[in-house]
Amino acid sequence: MNELIAVTKRFSLPGFVAKQIADWLYKKEIQTIDEMTNLSKRMREILANDYETGLSNPVSYSESSDGTRKYLYRVLENKFIETAFIPDDDRATICVSSQSGCKMGCIFCMTGKQGFQGNLSSNEILNQFRSLPEFRQLTNMVYMGMGEPLDNITEVLKSLEILTSDWGYGWSPTRITVSTVGILTNIREFLEKSRCHLAISLHSPFDEERRMLMPIQRTNTVREVLDIVRHFDFNSQRRVSFEYILFEGLNDSPRHIRELARLLNGIKCRINIIRFHPVPGSSFRSPAEKLILDFREALNRKGILTTIRASRGVDIQAACGLLSTLELNKR
Ligand code: SF4
Repeated sequence: MNELIAVTKRFSLPGFVAKQIADWLYKKEIQTIDEMTNLSKRMREILANDYETGLSNPVSYSESSDGTRKYLYRVLENKFIETAFIPDDDRATICVSSQSGCKMGCIFCMTGKQGFQGNLSSNEILNQFRSLPEFRQLTNMVYMGMGEPLDNITEVLKSLEILTSDWGYGWSPTRITVSTVGILTNIREFLEKSRCHLAISLHSPFDEERRMLMPIQRTNTVREVLDIVRHFDFNSQRRVSFEYILFEGLNDSPRHIRELARLLNGIKCRINIIRFHPVPGSSFRSPAEKLILDFREALNRKGILTTIRASRGVDIQAACGLLSTLELNKR
């Protein structure tokens, strides 16, 4: 809103015009500045000389037999990012990317293998949502696509403000979850400046093992992340959860269950178990279904609410980063 007010000042327009422009952009779903019909024709022409609405349609998509759709958007001069639309019984979730590629280098992740290509602007983040063909069906949003959201915190916070403000899309923050590997310098800022849910990628409770899976653990340990979470006052509406990809023979033992319970003791949270979707060049495997169910039950018995995330879109390159890597290679 401050940026829109600055635009009105630049053209000596009354302050309320900023609110009118926000209405057109976020509530009335216009495509072009020329559709802002309560601004004079001359004003619309002046605005259109310097600004655009920033909408751009996906360049391609694939659809899974389970109804999940994966869209590719072009960003940053010929890079590609992935956005997933995941319909379920009573909800429809969009999974957005926050960066093209990623610096974090988690060894099980295809996006990590691409390396880093750039931060998305708040426009490029929100365009995935606004230009999604299923935009009007959406009930939930997760920042779990390509990139590490807290490594692009300024643009991610700006996009969250537009999503959740009364003058913006007016979404409840409890419909939005931001996922992170745990960047210490930015996690506190995220907790203080937004009211959205937080999901922390854990994947192992043991330092050495997590260091091997996720290089971030060398400098930002999960214990330090938990220290911040433990001392933050989560209200009853706001949730913190932990993502745990199960890898066969690596992090799926009773020892892991015991250590997880010890590590998360005293934190009101839930664990989301994720089945591993194979990526090329990786020898990791997902454990047998029975072991996954037993792992969940054991954690529930320890008093940690644990769920297994349904695998979606397995027939359309479900692992994040696969589709965009194929597109980059093609070109
Ligand atoms: S898992 Fe997330 S943080 Fe890690 S490399 Fe992939 S996109 Fe980046």
